[in-house]
Amino acid sequence: MSSPISHLKTPNTAERLTIIQAEIRKAALSNGRDPAEITLVVVSKTFPAEAILPALESGHRVFGENRVQEARAKWPALRERFPDLELHLIGPLQSNKVREAVAMFDAIHTIDRPKIAAALAEEIAKQARALKLFIEINTGGEEQKAGVLPQDADTFITDCRTKYRLPIEGLMCIPPFDEPPAPHFALLQKIAKRNHLPLLSMGMSADFASAIVFGATHVRVGSAIFGERTSN
Ligand SMILES: *Cc1c(COP(=O)(O)O)cnc(C)c1O
Repeated sequence: MSSPISHLKTPNTAERLTIIQAEIRKAALSNGRDPAEITLVVVSKTFPAEAILPALESGHRVFGENRVQEARAKWPALRERFPDLELHLIGPLQSNKVREAVAMFDAIHTIDRPKIAAALAEEIAKQARALKLFIEINTGGEEQKAGVLPQDADTFITDCRTKYRLPIEGLMCIPPFDEPPAPHFALLQKIAKRNHLPLLSMGMSADFASAIVFGATHVRVGSAIFGERTSN
């Protein structure tokens, strides 16, 4: 006889990862998109290396962290075991951490001011690194939130390209948590399109399927894979 408990068993990290990958694939196909053009950035902030290992062991290689300091404590050892992994910085970047961020991360999603753009350009040249670079747009114009205001986006994108010679590839946004995200995804897509930027980092656990409808190329999913966080 089968126990009802077995049906209620909480899926583990590897199983949840498989479920999310399937949902991304489904959202892509039902919107006429190629699933291969969407990268799942598994957001591992606040979770220790032991919790991340099952995802690495199941073959996933792209992860996101929001703090340089936390990434430094967890990822160098993991990278020794999995040299082909890709680490994305999805949280704010301070100028005194730029050198370390350029050395440790493969992508930065949160460029949002001239000072950081200039410092990044300098370090990228110095370290001869190739990073995937995104500008964060504060689509909701929220005062407490990082990111360039939508009305300043075109100028900042142009400055990054011409003044700082940063090879910007995309835009990132975090919609206000108390609003429907779709208009924010649409706005980000519009700004990227008119500036000829191919990459869009948008969509989290609750709304990645909607982000895919609006062209997301990078979805950042944490709690749907690792469970609820107790901090951050
Ligand atoms: C924490 C975080 C995420 C992941 O959020 P979930 O809701 O747990 O999927 C995505 N993007 C950024 C910038 C984050 O800080």
